[in-house]
Order: sequence, then structure tokens, then C-alpha cells
Amino acid sequence: MKVGFVYDPIYLKHDTGQHVENASRLEAIISHLEQTQLKQQLTHIQPRAATVEELSLVHHKQYISHIQDAAQRGGGWLDTDTVISPNSYQAAIYAAGGVISATEAVMDGEIGCAFALVRPPGHHATSQRAMGFCLFNNVAIATKYALVKYKLERILIIDFDVHHGNGTQATFYDNPQVLYISTHLYPFYPGTGGIDETGAGKAKGTTVNIPLPAGCGDAEYLQVFDQIITPAAKRFNPQLILVSAGYDPHWADELALMQVSVVGFAQMVKIIKRLADELCSGRLVFTLEGGYNLTALAASIKATFDVLLGNTNIEDPLGQSPRRFATPSITSLIKAIRAAHNLS
Ligand SMILES: [Zn+2]
Repeated sequence: MKVGFVYDPIYLKHDTGQHVENASRLEAIISHLEQTQLKQQLTHIQPRAATVEELSLVHHKQYISHIQDAAQRGGGWLDTDTVISPNSYQAAIYAAGGVISATEAVMDGEIGCAFALVRPPGHHATSQRAMGFCLFNNVAIATKYALVKYKLERILIIDFDVHHGNGTQATFYDNPQVLYISTHLYPFYPGTGGIDETGAGKAKGTTVNIPLPAGCGDAEYLQVFDQIITPAAKRFNPQLILVSAGYDPHWADELALMQVSVVGFAQMVKIIKRLADELCSGRLVFTLEGGYNLTALAASIKATFDVLLGNTNIEDPLGQSPRRFATPSITSLIKAIRAAHNLS
């Protein structure tokens, strides 16, 4: 099956200046995919702009016009860490539309699985608030879109960005059709994502938070994938899997305190791909969230594509973590989360 990627130069026009979330992230990814000749193994998916109707599956109409107006007026800071430029609204509607396009290509069977290489990222954006570098919640919008358009009943979102996807969690907190599973450093920005946040009403149990201590590396993440994510995903039995792929748990990333390597990300992706193959005919859509060390980011995305393509040789130019932090034991944490979610 073909592996697709979404990309468009419009994403570079969300001009954040010297901000850590800037256009050089996508430039580094694309040039690495070109230099390593991996790009030619992939199928390009042209993104479209999300319509206001589609954005409003998640966001209040007033908030959508607020972002549009703020960009039109020349941009500026929306909160202490989220900045926009005149073209940011355009880039953001193509970012949301890009994840929709990837989802459509997968659902329509044109390609096997896809990665939407978009920015601005999305998982912190709530129905009426931009935060954490995010304007519109790309993954949440595509999820809602897929529920409606394809009349799906169960979608799994796996979020391995080092930050908790508070916006995604909030969107689906009372929606039993979406299982949201997040691994994240905790306590940390944005402050949400404790074990006891498990969903509300009929959706109790369909939010699975895995709040990790600093210093977790490949071994700890794999333990979590094997002992929590895999059984939770199998029990839910999704018809489609979306992934908020943030590469800021990499040891070289300066925004956080984790110790994952490129090979570690590849192993996580392998587990996710196996789940998709086993549970939902391989229907799998990745979308880019964080990841701020350009070498680590580009190599990790290439490794992700290599796994999706079935290539077995994973290049890791940065190698294993120099272990700046002690490795924590997460055995009792895993036990507590498994108990909270009745995973056996
Ligand atoms: Zn992040």
C-alpha cells in the first residue's frame, strides 16, 4: 500500500520569527526526506483549506473569526507563547485541511496510511482559545470530520507529543466515539493530563492519560505502549487511528526532559502500525505536533516513514541519550493506570 504525505509551502508562511516553532522545522524535514531519497517513495497528497464549517466542528465561530481578524490586522501575540503573522490564518486552515485531506485519502482507500506534515500544530488549541503554538486543533477537526463524513463510530487518537494535548482531550472528553490516549511529561505544560482525567458521562474511560516523570527513554515508552496503549486500543477496536506525532520527547529536544531516541520513535510507530493493521485495515493518519531539535525531528520523521513503508534499516544520526537524567521506574505508575482503566 502507498504511504502518503501532506505538505504545502503555505505552511512556511505562518511566520513566527525567532520563535522555537518556526518554518525551519518543516524545511528541515522536507530537505532531509529529499536528501535521503525517501521522498520519492512517498505519495504526495495536496492539502485543501478546511472550511469554516469544518473548523467549527471543534471551534466556536467567533473564535475562528477572531483568528482571521487578528491575522488580517498584521498578527501579533495571542497568548504568552503563541504568535501569528498576516498569513497565519491561511496556513492554519490548510493545516487543518491537510489532516482532513490525509484522512480522506486513507478512508477512500487511495493510500494505505499518511503523515500530514503541517504547521501550525494543533493539539493544545481548545474550542475558543489559541495556546501552546496552536491555532486550530487539526487532529480534533479531522477526527470529527471522519466521524461525520464516514459515519464512523470509533476513532482512536494516540498523542505521543511530550506535552499533554489538552485541546484534544477537551474536545472529546464526553464523546464515547473517540478514545484519546496521551503520553506526556507531567507535571508540565499545559498542566492537564492526570491519571484521574478519564472522560465524562458515557465517555468515562475513553480518555487515557499516561503522565510520565522526567527522564523516560525508549524502554519506558515501550513499556507504556505494550502494557497500556496496546491493550486499551485493542479493547476499543477503532475503525481509524490518528496520531498526534510530537517528537519533543527526543533526548536532544530542549523543550522537555525526556530521553527517547530516533530508534525509540521508530519502535513506537511500529507498534502503532501493527495496531492499525490488526484493528482497522491499516487506516492510520499521523499529524505533526511538536519537535524542536531540527536534526532529531527530521531523522525521527524519516524513521516514521521508514517504518510505515516497511523499511527495516532505521538511521539514527544522534544515537542513544547521553542520559542527562536518571531513568525513573514507572512500574507502579503503569500498574495504577492499568487499574484505573481495568486493563487486564
Ligand atoms: Zn509538544
